[in-house]
This record gives sequence, C-alpha cells and structure tokens, in this order.
Amino acid sequence: MPVKDNLLDIKAKLPNHVTLVAVTKTKSEEEIMEAYNTGQRVFGENKIQEMAGKWEALPKDIQWHMIGHVQRNKVKYMASFVNLIHSVDSLKLLKEIDKHAKKHNRVINCLFQIHIAEESTKFGLSEDDVLELIKSEEFAQMENVGIVGLMGMATYTDDRNKIQREFHGLKEVFERLKTKLPHIDTLSIGMSSDFPIALEEGSTMVRIGSSIFGARNYN
Ligand SMILES: *Cc1c(COP(=O)(O)O)cnc(C)c1O
Repeated sequence: MPVKDNLLDIKAKLPNHVTLVAVTKTKSEEEIMEAYNTGQRVFGENKIQEMAGKWEALPKDIQWHMIGHVQRNKVKYMASFVNLIHSVDSLKLLKEIDKHAKKHNRVINCLFQIHIAEESTKFGLSEDDVLELIKSEEFAQMENVGIVGLMGMATYTDDRNKIQREFHGLKEVFERLKTKLPHIDTLSIGMSSDFPIALEEGSTMVRIGSSIFGARNYN
C-alpha cells in the first residue's frame, strides 16, 4: 500500500489524544514528503546526523523527534531544532542537552527512557535511577530542559502477555512519577508490531515506522 493509505489506516486506529510519530529512519526525503503531504508533521529518527540532514532539506514546520540512543558529543547537531528527545538515559546526557539548549536560548523537551525489556541491549534507566536523578542538585539547576514523560520499548517477542506486562509496568512507573513531576503527560510506547497493546496500556504517543513506510533497507 502507498504511504498515504498506510498512514490513514493507522491514524484511524489512534484515539485523538495519541500523537503519531512517523519513524523515517533510512527513508528518503521523497517518502517523507508523501507522509507530509497527507498532513503528517511529527517525524522520528534514531540517528542525529541523518535527522539534521532531513531537517535542513525538508519543510520547517516538521517536528523532529530523536528516538534513538544519543551520544553526548552529537547533541550540538540537533540542539537548535529538535522538538522532543525520547531517549534520555543519563544525568550526563541531560546536562549536555541543557547546555546546548541554553546556547540556543530554548527549552528542549525530553523523555526519560526506561528499561522495560528483557533484552540487555535496550538502553534505559530504572525507576530508581530516575528518582535519584530528579532529586539531584544538578537536575534542580537545569533551566533549558523540560521533562514531559517517559519512553519505553518492550521485548521483541510474539508473547502478547509479556509485552502487555512490560507496558503496564511502565504505565505504573509513569503514574508514580507523576506524584513527583505533576506536569508529565507523555507516555511514548508502541511501535508497528505492538502499538495496539500500548494503546490499551495508556500510550499517549506511538512511534511507527515500517507499518507506514514499509520494511527498512539498511544497505
Ligand atoms: C525504529 C524504531 C521505531 C519504529 O519501529 P517500527 O517497528 O518500524 O514501527 C520505534 N521506536 C524506536 C526507538 C525505533 O528505533
């Protein structure tokens, strides 16, 4: 199916309060423009330089989300334009984002990435890590980052119950964190294969790539 039909199909499955991040990693500017011309404005990438190149080339009303692991020495390439960073997994990284956001006189919204999957390869913080981080003096002094919620990735498995348990656990972390950071409102869970489960478990933001643009080609 063409991108337009895929996009409309997924949009029809999302409640109004859920934001769709169309994940465009490895996809061309032409493919992104197909989605743009259907009305999509929120796009996600997992590599900073790839995102920066697309930001330069494409319409400026696109909101770019960084969903991949962030190396601190690359924050500078996105600090002027990134709309939301989903993948904050350390205090050091948050400090670096704060520093570069300050240079651009802006506040960069961020999510803490929480480790919920079984796989040890998926990045992220534990609930305790987050509680410790937000108690720190350094966190209190940051003026150019805004924590707006949490992101998580479930284990890659066919076991629907396992995915559901992992998302459910993250939603509980989210609710507990809300007692400390009452303004948080974003729970970024759900990809092509598991977003219906994520919606049931309280997702407010889904990150969907292959169901919109087709399988990725990494060559
Ligand atoms: C690639 C990616 C997605 C989208 O994956 P699909 O299975 O193609 O929908 C979502 N989140 C993250 C963090 C990703 O890297």
